[in-house]
Formats: sequence, structure tokens, C-alpha cells
Amino acid sequence: MSEISERYHQVRQQIQAAAEQCGRSPDGIELLAVSKRKPIEDIEAMYALGQKAFGENYLQEALLKIKAIQHNDVIWHFIGHIQSNKTKEIALHFDWVHGIEKAKHASQLDKHRAILGKPLQACIQVNITGEASKGGVTIEQLPELANHISQLENIQLRGLMTMPDPNTPAEEQKAVFTRLRECKEQLQQQGLTLDTLSMGMSGDMNDAICEGSTMIRIGTALFGKRE
Ligand SMILES: *Cc1c(COP(=O)(O)O)cnc(C)c1O
Repeated sequence: MSEISERYHQVRQQIQAAAEQCGRSPDGIELLAVSKRKPIEDIEAMYALGQKAFGENYLQEALLKIKAIQHNDVIWHFIGHIQSNKTKEIALHFDWVHGIEKAKHASQLDKHRAILGKPLQACIQVNITGEASKGGVTIEQLPELANHISQLENIQLRGLMTMPDPNTPAEEQKAVFTRLRECKEQLQQQGLTLDTLSMGMSGDMNDAICEGSTMIRIGTALFGKRE
């Protein structure tokens, strides 16, 4: 078995084991393969194993890959930082975007997406601990942004995304996941239809799964260390 195939099966097994451990079905956990800074051949190898969803952070790099990879059933997720001057390309070339944190960006994505007639799937990034250095809206800003996006015709708000500080203890990171789940539940009580919690990376996927993640974003564990 190739290294990529071995890693892929290991990650699938880890998802299954983590789900079983906390009484969930692994079917409710989607694996997003984060291929940033990895070559097209690695994406092709992963695709050949049955993987369809890929996440990219850097727009120019991603556009080259999207162009080169011809399979029309690949689902591309933009998981990087969103900037105003990139919203057009993101809206036109991706199926999902995970890091919305500004109403202005959401409106721009909506406008540029109109031509495709198929809504962009979106998550709002939440900065649970509120540190100034981190991306995402605060818990206090979340309802307003969620309501704004839910009224846009060409964006379908699917849920929330977060990234705990990897330098904090595991219990604190777990508490961040719990809090994100509660934020989603609150928005649902207010009438929004949400089905996605984008949380969990190579180092913290087990806790994220036990706290209700529906989509884990895995790079290193699938493709090996990035240069
Ligand atoms: C790079 C990245 C990941 C994957 O991280 P790994 O630790 O390599 O699994 C997940 N989410 C986002 C937003 C990233 O930028």
C-alpha cells in the first residue's frame, strides 16, 4: 500500500473509533482533506481512494489545482483567510467557504455567486475565546452576521467553524468545541437551519468528534507534514 493510502485508511479508522467511543455514527462526520501546499499528484492519489472533498487555503495555489484536476465530482472548500479582493474568485471556483467573518465579504460573495445559480455553502468562523490575534467573529457578533448571511440568496449558511489555539491545553480546546456546538444550537433555536460544525484538525479530531463535529479538516494526518 502506498503511504497516502495507508494514511487515508488510518484516518478513516480513527474517525470510526472516535465516533464509536462517544456513541456517534461515523456517517455523520465528513472528512475534508486539506491539501494546501501539497502537489496535484497527492490530490489525485487521494481522489483515487474515494476522497471527494478537498480544502485549500491559498487562492492562487488553489485555482491552479482546481483547473488541473478535471474530475467534476470534486468538492472544493476554501478554508483560508478571506479578503475583499479575493471574494470573486472564491465565489466562482469553490463549493464551500468556511471562514466568513465579515458581513461585507458575505455580501460580495453573494453578488459574485449569482451568475452560477447554485448557492455557495458557507460557515461562519467563530473566535470562541475572543483573542484579538485570531480570525473569526466573537460570540457576541455571531447572531447578527448569521442573520445577515441567512438573507442572502446565493449563499447557504450551513454552520460554524472554529480553530482552537493549538498551544492551549487539550481541555481548553475541547471547551472551545463544546462552546461552538452551543452557539450552533442557539442559532437553531432562533430559527436558522444549520447542519454543520466544521471543527477538528489532525491533532484534535477525537475531541472535536466527541463534541459534535460534522466536518473535520485534516491535512497532516492524510498527506504528511507540510514543508
Ligand atoms: C491547515 C489547516 C487545517 C489542517 O491542519 P492539519 O493540522 O494539518 O490537519 C485545517 N483547517 C484549517 C483552517 C487549516 O488552515
